[in-house]
Amino acid sequence: MTEQNRKLFGTNGIRGIPGRDLTLEFIAEMAQSIGSYFSRDHPLLIGHDVRNSSPAISKAVLSGVLSSGSNTQEAGLAPTPAHQYAVRTLGYNGGIIVTASHNPPEYNGMKVVGSDGVEISRETERAIEAVYYEKKYNKADWKSLGRTNKETRVVENYITGIMSQVDRAKISERKATVVLDVGNGAQAVAAPYLCERLGCRVITINGQADGNFPGRGPEPTPTVLHDLSSAVKSYRADFGVAYDGDGDRSLFCDENGEIYWGDRTGSLLVDYLLGKHKGGPVVTTVSTSQLVDIVAKSHDARVIWTTVGSVDVSRAMINSSAPLGLEENGGFFYGPHIPVRDGAMTTALVLEALALTKTTFSKAINALPKFYQKKAKFECPAEKREQVMKILEERSKEGKIDRTDGLKIWLDNRTWILLRPSGTEPLIRVYAESNDESNVESAYKRYQGLVEDAIAA
Ligand code: MG
Repeated sequence: MTEQNRKLFGTNGIRGIPGRDLTLEFIAEMAQSIGSYFSRDHPLLIGHDVRNSSPAISKAVLSGVLSSGSNTQEAGLAPTPAHQYAVRTLGYNGGIIVTASHNPPEYNGMKVVGSDGVEISRETERAIEAVYYEKKYNKADWKSLGRTNKETRVVENYITGIMSQVDRAKISERKATVVLDVGNGAQAVAAPYLCERLGCRVITINGQADGNFPGRGPEPTPTVLHDLSSAVKSYRADFGVAYDGDGDRSLFCDENGEIYWGDRTGSLLVDYLLGKHKGGPVVTTVSTSQLVDIVAKSHDARVIWTTVGSVDVSRAMINSSAPLGLEENGGFFYGPHIPVRDGAMTTALVLEALALTKTTFSKAINALPKFYQKKAKFECPAEKREQVMKILEERSKEGKIDRTDGLKIWLDNRTWILLRPSGTEPLIRVYAESNDESNVESAYKRYQGLVEDAIAA
């Protein structure tokens, strides 16, 4: 692919640094292309996250869409899944959400969703890129410019939508105490109010929406959530949850302050929800723990494995009518609500699971088989990634290989290692998992050497 028509959409929408590679001119022209692609019978929703650059970029998006002749409604600040649910339920043709999810504060981007609220398919991305590169977008004259207005229902619509999916009476009876680490992100305007309305005692930390993300940064990983752990213990909470910058991902900790990756909490939810949604199937990416497979099999349900990326999970859920989806990074997708990852919906489902099974978070999660994992990333220039993967494939001479995304090598029937180039950053990611801790360590050490050699080659 030449530089002139390089891919603009990455793993999860368009990303960049405003003022550097993400200029207002580019944003407006791209929005004009997006506006031209959608039919004009209903408006497009434009919403954004808490980033400092989000209001400015939203206005450029608005200009671009109106210039294409399409109508818009401006939703302002809300979690990404709230915007997506609004598009699905409030009569929109689609939406453009200005967000860079969990990226550092200087980043921003655009996520484009269809009328079902789900990120557009890879084919639609290519079609919009073609409109942009060939400058085939509509240029409305003064009489046919689009019209715009405010959409004020997004957050309330989201909260009531989530509440309609869970057993409110049983959750309220439990009177759970929850600590929400909003991470200065977009869930500041939704999740605490949802939990209050579900009868919880709510404690928030990093609770102010702030585009500098001064608390613990916009990306929740177990290593940065010590404040959440301590708050859960000191308030004797039932559990804690931390959201990413735009509120679609959630990582949980139990009542003892122990923090879990998304695939472990996700498996707990799958175990609970397959009781309601008999047979599944469950969609997840190849980087997810095999625990989900064990849990699904115990309910006679099938797991569909996809490439890494939330769009891939959402699209596979739609294609297979799957009610459940998950990712190891804390993305959980509940199809009956909307098949996109959603931090507040996930929180409500955990509340329901604990209320109905009358157990504690730690008891429920420790009842699942234990797996040991290791995750690492190695810097690798983007242009070298393909060559590095080729070398790794030649030098990996053992096990059974799964090529769904990168190289997933099954070393025995409970030990695997996954080597894959990142879709968003100049990195090679390495994941390892086994039911035996020493197997993870030895496999990781072996492949760490291979990866370093391949990058240096
Ligand atoms: Mg996100």
